[in-house]
Amino acid sequence: MNNFTYSHATCIDNAVSEMAAHQEARFIAGGTNLIDLMKENVMHPDHLIDINGLYLNSIDFLDDGRLFLGALVTNADTAWHPAVEKYYPLLSAAILAGASPQLRNMATNGGNLMQRTRCYYFYDTSTPCNKREPGSGCSAINGYNRIHAILGTSQQCIAVHPSDMCVALRALNAVIQVRGHEGERLIRMEDFHRLPGDTPQIDNNLAAEELITGIILPREQFTHYKYLKVRDRASYAFALVSVAVLFRMEQDHIADVRLALGGVAHKPWRNMEAENWLKGKSATVENFAHAADMILQDAVTFGTNDFKPALAKRAIIRACREAINGER
Ligand SMILES: Cc1cc2nc3c(=O)[nH]c(=O)nc-3n(C[C@H](O)[C@H](O)[C@H](O)COP(=O)(O)OP(=O)(O)OC[C@H]3O[C@@H](n4cnc5c(N)ncnc54)[C@H](O)[C@@H]3O)c2cc1C
Ligand code: SF4
Repeated sequence: MNNFTYSHATCIDNAVSEMAAHQEARFIAGGTNLIDLMKENVMHPDHLIDINGLYLNSIDFLDDGRLFLGALVTNADTAWHPAVEKYYPLLSAAILAGASPQLRNMATNGGNLMQRTRCYYFYDTSTPCNKREPGSGCSAINGYNRIHAILGTSQQCIAVHPSDMCVALRALNAVIQVRGHEGERLIRMEDFHRLPGDTPQIDNNLAAEELITGIILPREQFTHYKYLKVRDRASYAFALVSVAVLFRMEQDHIADVRLALGGVAHKPWRNMEAENWLKGKSATVENFAHAADMILQDAVTFGTNDFKPALAKRAIIRACREAINGER
């Protein structure tokens, strides 16, 4: 591990200005991702700004009925919060499908949004990786790419965003609240993470000095939900494919639907054409299969992950069916 200095942020403005005062500073929250990356010499900040003393650790309803999740609320406290369990059970289910109880007790909502890819080569500093070292090449494209992306890839990077929580946030149309030099701004979840393109070293659209202060969840009227995570082990493993789905059923037809995929792209993936196609249809396996084909029609595979489109299709159908049947 490289040498670094360390400070405690005393307030949000102090955290933002401390960040600007250092060449290569990073905020540290739960530390469950950043410390690993520092130990592996993948990330080498010269300064850590501990944000755990900031008052960003509450969950409150806003005046208009939306729910605000503080950036420093742990994943565990978020998942088990009565308001989240009652009004956003999809989010509770997604968070509880991730990591382990110990990790969820440390991991924060802000850190979960910012966690980095689990691509093996990103962690292995002896191999080329455009995300870790721009211009060095991508070892995964012709290498072992079982966990890698099939949608939205580029010639530079085929990594996926590994979060479960973020897949549910994408389905819920969450908004990320951030603070920087220019003050506060809101970033829609769909715009928060980015595709790799020619700059895979940039995971998201947060500016360098900006601090995530919270997540805002719109009020929702969905009647059915499911978070399905397909992985190599039943716990403590990242998703090969995950599906977050919400339905609003009216009589026997789908009045509204949101369907987000994890484990398939550099960001949680949605396909509006497929969602719009499902609206007004009945909730049949045939219709779910057609929507899955629409979502996956542009999928590209790289050898070891050739199984993923078929797996993703089966996962979409199963998640939709279990949502409608109320199977948890
Ligand atoms: C063994 C293991 C298994 C895991 N399995 C899963 C899984 O199955 N599903 C899943 O979703 N996740 C999984 N995780 C990832 C885990 O959820 C993340 O490590 C965690 O959410 C990161 O949160 P943190 O608070 O510890 O972040 P930190 O490690 O403190 O920070 C991570 C990054 O976020 C930045 N950051 C933190 N807070 C803010 C903020 N408020 N504003 C701006 N930047 C910020 C930091 O600078 C850093 O770059 C796993 C992790 C481990 C170690
Ligand atoms: S997929 Fe992305 S993170 Fe993985 S080796 Fe290629 S460039 Fe690096």
